Amino acid sequence: MNSSFAASARVGFVSLGCPKALVDSERIMTQLRLDGYELVASYEDADIVVVNTCGFIDSAKAESLETIGEALNENGKVIVTGCLGVHEDDIRRAHPNVLSVTGPQQYEAVVGAVREHVPIDTPHDPLTDLVPPQGVKLTPRHYAYLKISEGCNHKCSFCIIPSMRGRLASRPVDEVLREAERLVANGVRELLVISQDTSAYGIDTKYRTGFWQGRPVKADMLGLAAALGSLDAWVRLHYVYPYPHVDNVMPLMRDGLVLPYLDIPFQHGSPQVLKAMRRPAHAENVLERIARWRSEVPELALRSTFIVGFPGETDHDFEILLDFIDAAELDRVGCFQYSPVAGAAANDLPDPIPDADKQARWDAFMQLQQQISTHRLERYRGRTLEVLVDAVDADGAVARSYADAPEIDGLVYVRGPGSTSLTVGEFCAVTISDSDEYDLFATTV
Ligand code: SF4
Repeated sequence: MNSSFAASARVGFVSLGCPKALVDSERIMTQLRLDGYELVASYEDADIVVVNTCGFIDSAKAESLETIGEALNENGKVIVTGCLGVHEDDIRRAHPNVLSVTGPQQYEAVVGAVREHVPIDTPHDPLTDLVPPQGVKLTPRHYAYLKISEGCNHKCSFCIIPSMRGRLASRPVDEVLREAERLVANGVRELLVISQDTSAYGIDTKYRTGFWQGRPVKADMLGLAAALGSLDAWVRLHYVYPYPHVDNVMPLMRDGLVLPYLDIPFQHGSPQVLKAMRRPAHAENVLERIARWRSEVPELALRSTFIVGFPGETDHDFEILLDFIDAAELDRVGCFQYSPVAGAAANDLPDPIPDADKQARWDAFMQLQQQISTHRLERYRGRTLEVLVDAVDADGAVARSYADAPEIDGLVYVRGPGSTSLTVGEFCAVTISDSDEYDLFATTV
């Protein structure tokens, strides 16, 4: 342990993994800033480095271990946290010199380890020192992830998140809303609601009512979405499952309070595969539900992810999957080839699919989805849409419409008079002139 006290100390931070891990990083970094640590962007400027790891699939594990090794080589003092932290033995076997290892959501333990190994002598005064009121954010200033719960009560056979992050634990609704309010007051124009299962929000707290802005708010998906919809920002819902109660948010979308966008990880279309995956809502008639939602909210954009090559997936199952995406006409789709995750129940399933078949199915899937996506985007041509500007350069602006979440969906390229003087985080109206497989092209109105 380092026993010499410094007046201030600098912490390097590497954040790997999904938006949920990013939010964990933001919390740890906010606390470190409140404690008086300086955050720096390079290994050489840092007195210590925190690596927030991902352990979801084997390639993410490998990347995390590699990053820890890099941080040890470049800096030498490394604290490890995050999802891979639940496999402490693996980390210590590969890198015996790491100073401390903690699992996901162990914010206090991480900050405690930093304090232990790089103590500082002048206690920081959060009232006088500078931390942005919205906390430290790793996303650009105009959008932010809003994590509403931790953990998950499901037992999908390919997933080890419940064993890493525990059972569903919903944050109090008033706490979530105060955070959202602070973010919006500080310039955030788009709130991305994330969790492992947004439609399950509040089940564990028995939907305990909270008080916000002097009024009661029920802690369920509808109550939260309606309250968020009253803020002056786009509200985008991620990780929703197609349960019947999701129907209740359609009026909020129709009335413009919440973006007409749902991110629903369907993962497959064949009932047999969904059952083997032990997916939530696998018995719901999803196509019927989608048709009903679209009749109520014609603009609704649906995003989803799928897995091909799950153990036991037959040619017939795969045909059903193709028929499903053809019929569902989803707007945005990601597809992954199944890969085993150490510790997941699916590893014990019989009939693994050969890699060549997985690749062939993935190719066929992507080809079909590309046609669907191209066709879906054509319907915007000639229409005027409100977009949010993400970047501006000498040619014009790069923006997103309600149908595009940052990082994972398409873009709207804006050209024409005034497009180069738009500012990042600004909403503007554009006319869609063209489209391709994934993106839209527009001119300023
Ligand atoms: S819903 Fe399934 S895939 Fe998602 S976190 Fe829970 S167990 Fe994992």
